[in-house]
Amino acid sequence: MGIIDLLKDVPLSAVLKEKILTLEAENKSLKAENSVLNEKLSQSEEQRRALEKQIVEINHKSPLTFDSDFGAWIDQTTGLHYCTVCKTKLSRDDLWSPRL
Ligand SMILES: [Zn+2]
Repeated sequence: MGIIDLLKDVPLSAVLKEKILTLEAENKSLKAENSVLNEKLSQSEEQRRALEKQIVEINHKSPLTFDSDFGAWIDQTTGLHYCTVCKTKLSRDDLWSPRL
């Protein structure tokens, strides 16, 4: 039941009625948007957990660990960095240039 229905016995100006209807419509659309965003958030959370799991699995298979300072893999034994996508060895310059 909308606010307008609750106030049906109360005399309201046309402007106030219009304003209430507008606010109710906005509220409805915000609730719908919120629900879509919650759905997207939970999908992203799911993806993030899957990726975290992949990182753990990858770390178990190789001596590479993720260096968050550079956003790249690092071989702890050599200190060399590798691309997280194609595992290409990165030079010092690559590390400081914006990510491609
Ligand atoms: Zn790459």
